[in-house]
Amino acid sequence: MAKAKIALYWCASCGGCEEAIVDLAEKILDVVDKADIVFWPVALDFKKSDVENYPDKYIDVCFINGAIRFSEHEEMAKLLRRKSKMVIAFGSCSHLGGIPGLANLWNKETIFRYVYHEAPTVVNKEGIEPQEKVKEDGMELELPSFWNTVRALDQVIEVDYYIPGCAPTPKIIEDAINAIFTGQLPEKGSVLASQQALCAECPLNETKPEKITLTEIKRVHQIILDHEKCYLTQGVLCLGPVTRGGCDSLCIKGGMPCTGCFGPLDQTIDQGARAASFITSIIEYEDEELIEKVVNDIVDPIGWFYRYSLPKSILKRRNMEVKKK
Ligand code: SF4
Ligand code: SF4
Ligand code: SF4
Repeated sequence: MAKAKIALYWCASCGGCEEAIVDLAEKILDVVDKADIVFWPVALDFKKSDVENYPDKYIDVCFINGAIRFSEHEEMAKLLRRKSKMVIAFGSCSHLGGIPGLANLWNKETIFRYVYHEAPTVVNKEGIEPQEKVKEDGMELELPSFWNTVRALDQVIEVDYYIPGCAPTPKIIEDAINAIFTGQLPEKGSVLASQQALCAECPLNETKPEKITLTEIKRVHQIILDHEKCYLTQGVLCLGPVTRGGCDSLCIKGGMPCTGCFGPLDQTIDQGARAASFITSIIEYEDEELIEKVVNDIVDPIGWFYRYSLPKSILKRRNMEVKKK
């Protein structure tokens, strides 16, 4: 039987999603057994021209991680879409915009101003900024354009399936690969993880009472956490009740609350709004001053509730004065 052809590519990515593939360890040999890797520039010497020369739909499955930040990301995503039968958004950045998507609180102008001029560690007397076109030794060099807005993969191309997580866990990758190779994939557009909230698989779930009432919210460095007891009941924000399960409760087992990287459940339109609505609904409500205090305890609410999903939210980005692509 002919081997499947797979491709892997990164856009605006920290590299953690590529690491997640390497974390498959010897299981990667099973993948190589069933598939030929025909594009993986981070690990193997493939060029863009290799992909350009493939016939359309030559690649069976293409995994794309990272968000869409630069023109180059959009160009490569569109090229890989044309050359692939199936495209899988791999990891939170590709699935929801991820951590790079928090840059949608600013725009190109304000990001460049800070990074190249105002950051305390910057020394840039000439006020130099990266230029998209530069002439050097008579040759013109071109850099990709920095878009004003970070987007998730499906805001640029059609996506067939999503593998969630920052980064996806080896188990979730393995299950997805098995589903692909055995033809046991769910409906197109599905997120290949649990259909239940993380709490359902959390080892601390038994200690979570039916009703939780928050009278204060603490950050993890402000409390000595009891690792035998549901973190939310200890007043620490844990997004397990509104986050898709399937990660095997990695953070909880590591002694930290869930920050929501597996994204929202199917029926949720806006992960941050859902999380904010859930948390505010369990704040003690009889004392107005206390409500205000507890709400003020939430340091960086956007970073908490939209940490992985701002580009895919209803808000999408902060409305800045300068609106460019
Ligand atoms: S999803 Fe997480 S691990 Fe993957 S590229 Fe984005 S930030 Fe890195
Ligand atoms: S709220 Fe967090 S700690 Fe509590 S049961 Fe759910 S996932 Fe576990
Ligand atoms: S516990 Fe939450 S943040 Fe941690 S890996 Fe699982 S889904 Fe992601």
